[in-house]
Amino acid sequence: MSDMPLLLPQRLKAESSVTAKRGYQIYMETFGCQMNEYDTELVRSIMKARGFQFTPVDEEADIILFNTCAIRENAHNRLYGHLARYKARKKERGLVIGVLGCMAQNLKQELLDSRSWIDVLVGPDAYRQLPDLLTNALEHQRRGLAVDLSEYETYSQIVPDRGDGVNGWIAVMRGCDNFCSFCVVPYTRGRERSRDPEGILEEVKRLVSQGVRQITLLGQNVNSYRSGAWDFSRLLVAVADVPGLHRVRFTSPHPKDFPPALLEAVAQHPIICNQIHLPLQSANDRMLERMGRGYTRREYLVLVEAILKKGPIVLTTDLICGFCGETDEEFHDTYNLVKEMEYQAAFVFKYSERKHTIAARKFPDDVSEQVKGYRTNEIIELQKEISLQKNQAWIGREVEVMIEGDAKKSDQQWMGHTEHNVTVVWPKESLNGLPGELVSISIHDATPSTLYGMVTKGDGRREK
Ligand code: SF4
Repeated sequence: MSDMPLLLPQRLKAESSVTAKRGYQIYMETFGCQMNEYDTELVRSIMKARGFQFTPVDEEADIILFNTCAIRENAHNRLYGHLARYKARKKERGLVIGVLGCMAQNLKQELLDSRSWIDVLVGPDAYRQLPDLLTNALEHQRRGLAVDLSEYETYSQIVPDRGDGVNGWIAVMRGCDNFCSFCVVPYTRGRERSRDPEGILEEVKRLVSQGVRQITLLGQNVNSYRSGAWDFSRLLVAVADVPGLHRVRFTSPHPKDFPPALLEAVAQHPIICNQIHLPLQSANDRMLERMGRGYTRREYLVLVEAILKKGPIVLTTDLICGFCGETDEEFHDTYNLVKEMEYQAAFVFKYSERKHTIAARKFPDDVSEQVKGYRTNEIIELQKEISLQKNQAWIGREVEVMIEGDAKKSDQQWMGHTEHNVTVVWPKESLNGLPGELVSISIHDATPSTLYGMVTKGDGRREK
């Protein structure tokens, strides 16, 4: 931690005699994955317990916090854009600016050195230190850095400060021991640690009592969950057995250690959704080996076969285009497999080198940006066609949907998802429903990402 002076917020200058540990307003933005959203809920809880408040209006804030993602270049660029904007505002009226999360962890001193207006940097295992660091920055103009990774921190005693809504996300484990060569997570989030099942089940029950009807269990490598005699399959079933839930999901499992018991749980339990996100990344063995994924194309396909034998389980995936040394032929292995697999959805990313990763140290990032972009678009377009065809096959049929809230584009429409996690939108006038209810929707139109329909009836749980 250094002792560099910084500007005091105007409002605090006027109250300089006050030991103003209460009432500071925080404006916070979150980038990246659902884990980061969950961490933001933890941060909100930690800060509120120390008297800080949150505002949705950045103009009203004394503190600007960014919870960042280090996975891809565009996440970096977004943060830099935002920081540049607040640099000017800080000059105008004084603000304390903090960067949290994976970028803070991965780029540490580099960020502090290159952006002198950042006051506080805190990594994902050090959020308990945030109130003190911000207070120091606000009241003693000290810059703060807390980026120690922990072998034990799971924030298990902290009740996340979540908004309303019928969806609840719960991080059951943190970190990752897999060290895929392209991935920065083991360096930014540290080694794998699992929460105890009792705390997780308590959290589920509390969420249900607050109206949550769908739980998604989160972990960077969720099927590595282990706490004493509990593995992830046992935990998943115990969560799904909590009365009051309609649906349970999980993300993301790693294909290299997907246990049969987990597949059994998905296939058998009536409220565990028949959808598995199974990141492929590449369908070429040389690329998979370079990526350090721990499975071959064949092993992945054997797992897929076992999954599909269990019933109508829908698969989604993640793909990386233009990884180090990827040839056209190797790319086409992936392209062709995507065509064959017919995933419901695929999250396709252009490879971007991350500092400190194995790939950054071992392999040249030698596929041109143009080729990476071309390959990425090729697969995105292919997947769009596949998703459209799959969604069009629902036209004229009924799907069960949980009402989740207003549609993005209109508060005259409801939005929800099928158990396969496809978005469904329908007009409100056709139903006097409420968020959290399961309804049957008759589908009359489809795009690659959304089904459109009319309600046919409201009912209870589906049966497997
Ligand atoms: S499994 Fe691989 S890609 Fe996923 S978080 Fe761990 S290291 Fe990253």
